[in-house]
Amino acid sequence: MGNIPFHLPHIGDEEIGGVVESLRSGWLTSGPKVLQFEREFAEYVGCRHAVAVNSCTAALHLALNAIGLREGDKVITTPMTFAATAEVIHYFRAEPVFVDIDSETLNINHTLLEKRINELKAPGSSPRAVIPVHYAGQPCDMDPIMQIARAHGLRVVEDAAHALPARYKDRTVGTIGDITCFSFYATKNITTGEGGMVATDNPEWADRLRTLRLHGISKDAWKRYASEGNWYYEITDNGYKYNLTDIAAALGIAQLKKADYLWERRKNIAAMYSEAFKYLPQIEVPSENSDVQHSWHLYVIRLRPEALTIDRDGFIRELKNMGIGTSVHFIPLHIHPYYRETYGYRPEDFPAAYETYRRIISLPIYPRMKDADVGRVIDSVTDVAERHKR
Ligand SMILES: *Cc1c(COP(=O)(O)O)cnc(C)c1O
Repeated sequence: MGNIPFHLPHIGDEEIGGVVESLRSGWLTSGPKVLQFEREFAEYVGCRHAVAVNSCTAALHLALNAIGLREGDKVITTPMTFAATAEVIHYFRAEPVFVDIDSETLNINHTLLEKRINELKAPGSSPRAVIPVHYAGQPCDMDPIMQIARAHGLRVVEDAAHALPARYKDRTVGTIGDITCFSFYATKNITTGEGGMVATDNPEWADRLRTLRLHGISKDAWKRYASEGNWYYEITDNGYKYNLTDIAAALGIAQLKKADYLWERRKNIAAMYSEAFKYLPQIEVPSENSDVQHSWHLYVIRLRPEALTIDRDGFIRELKNMGIGTSVHFIPLHIHPYYRETYGYRPEDFPAAYETYRRIISLPIYPRMKDADVGRVIDSVTDVAERHKR
């Protein structure tokens, strides 16, 4: 029996054909494929403007620039996220402020969000923005978040790295907050190897994002050098080198066509897991709100320590010995050395995130898994849980 890795990308002949076509076309960097990918992505999500960049980290950085973040500003986010979400705040010499998670969805707790905003307002240093992260692909409760943000004058930049395709009530993620950032990193629901997209309905921000992603130059390279264009360009801002290549966009175009199919398969796998673990008292299955479409980027189980004689790390080790790859999403940011040392955080400062961290395991969930693979993960998890039952 072979091992079941934590992740394998789903790359077919369409992706390979698209990349080869791009290579043969003679146009490798941002060009017609990027424009096509942006157009089709905007249509898929239902946003007015989609701006392709070379990572979600770049997307978040440019989004914060577009909303006018400045040195010394405060931006609120969750500690239960990847490095990128808070790192980009530091790019501005601004300060990330963490708000603990809701212990059901593991998304930012909006009651605590409002409380924190009110605390910050007192000394006259109102936060400028909030970055909700749609953890595992389950949208945050956006109605209260938008309402709180509007009431206190905060911009909403969504980290939707996990959330394609996802919906909150009757809206697609990508059409809710001020700006939404997506990731096409190798493990994400659709991939371009590395890549990202910024979605917004605001035309001025979209223009600014397009300029900033390529050196602050007002026109894209392909427009400058295409036959109808010319050699002249102007630097109108201090920009970055964040553009996506046509090679990557070719991958993205093929992946986007399969996005619904890939999502259906993730959803099936999640349903198989939840059905199998439902009656296993040693394990809590992930919650799914009835008014959302979960993208099932991650399937995260929570161990019940009171029902087990083994801890999370031991559980992962046993699964590894049985050939099952797993991961942990996430080690909360506030317990990492950089944050601990910079801000003096203690683990208990965000108790829900810390307590959750100690008992979460992300199981393999990707469309290339066969039903038999899913069955093997189920059997292995059940076996470890039963052998170490308290
Ligand atoms: C993957 C990820 C990112 C960063 O995406 P990149 O495309 O690798 O820059 C940001 N936030 C979250 C929550 C992620 O999981």
